Amino acid sequence: MIQPDLIDPFGRRVHYLRLSVTDRCDFRCRYCMAEDMTFLPRDQVLSLEELATVAKVFRRLGGDKLRITGGEPLIRRDVLRLFQSLGKLGFADLSLTTNGARLREFAQPLVDAGVHRVNISLDSLQPDRFRDITRTGDLAAVLAGIEAARNAGFRRIKINVVVMRHFNLDEVVPLTRFALERGLDISFIEEMPLGEIDDHERRDEFVSSEELRNCLVPHFSLSPVAESSGGPARYWAAHGYANRVGFISPHSHNFCSTCNRVRVSAEGRILLCLGNEHSADLRSVLRSNPAENVEERLAQAMIAALRLKPERHHFNLDEPPQILRFMNATGG
Ligand code: SAM
Ligand code: SF4
Repeated sequence: MIQPDLIDPFGRRVHYLRLSVTDRCDFRCRYCMAEDMTFLPRDQVLSLEELATVAKVFRRLGGDKLRITGGEPLIRRDVLRLFQSLGKLGFADLSLTTNGARLREFAQPLVDAGVHRVNISLDSLQPDRFRDITRTGDLAAVLAGIEAARNAGFRRIKINVVVMRHFNLDEVVPLTRFALERGLDISFIEEMPLGEIDDHERRDEFVSSEELRNCLVPHFSLSPVAESSGGPARYWAAHGYANRVGFISPHSHNFCSTCNRVRVSAEGRILLCLGNEHSADLRSVLRSNPAENVEERLAQAMIAALRLKPERHHFNLDEPPQILRFMNATGG
């Protein structure tokens, strides 16, 4: 039986899990990774079976929303097998965040496995600039992936754009038009201070959601949508289009009071808040208990971890990053 057991000390019910299946990636986006990264040794990363067990137990504890992320989930070997087991767990909303480079091959099998939605990162429509921001990415492959996703029958597809003032602020209007004309949602994300990067000064690249919205106003007629995801995103409807424009603003909009989510990193740490280090180790629970007890022990460990969920995050661009892990270690 599915029990809603995951209530934190501030009375928030957690029912959304973001599960990272790898910290590795074929891109090296400037805001996400340093150029030279050291990745986890493979034996420290949860196996596909362990990942499926985490999802299964979260579902049993009342979770109804699961997002698979990374690193780049689609470079994990045999990842489709994982999606096939996750698709059978009965999540009301099963989704994936991807850089899109391998979606041409994966879009249809993912839909067939039961994935409902996909978020695809796309920071520029200019091939050279796209390569510059991602350091290795091929725009043509990502655009082909987006087309494959459109044809595959996902419930919704969303484009994610991290906006940096000196890299892609001038593309906000073309990217919005690109998405809306193809029946895709689009979200603009404020860069978060995760991990120490020496590539650029984050404060100089910061663009508030309000400034972004002001860039769009002369081109689109936007009206706010009341619905809340319980997260940092706020959505606007664009008159004349079926899709929405979102702004994800960890700096300028404090969303913590309605937070309904936790993350599990690729090495099996349950992270209670993206902006704090509070976490608990699930991998040792998975690996130190006999098979017949493991789900029960994992459920207990998740319920106990929820007691560590802090009330709010404290991102501050004027201070060095408090959070030394990179985004790829936790998933977005
Ligand atoms: N590789 C996949 C992708 O790029 O979509 C999934 C993982 S990626 C870490 C998830 C999301 O986090 C992406 O939309 C990415 O743009 C975003 N992201 C990465 N680093 C970020 C940062 N420092 N601030 C804000 N968003 C970030
Ligand atoms: Fe890879 Fe996604 Fe990070 Fe870019 S944002 S480096 S695609 S994990």
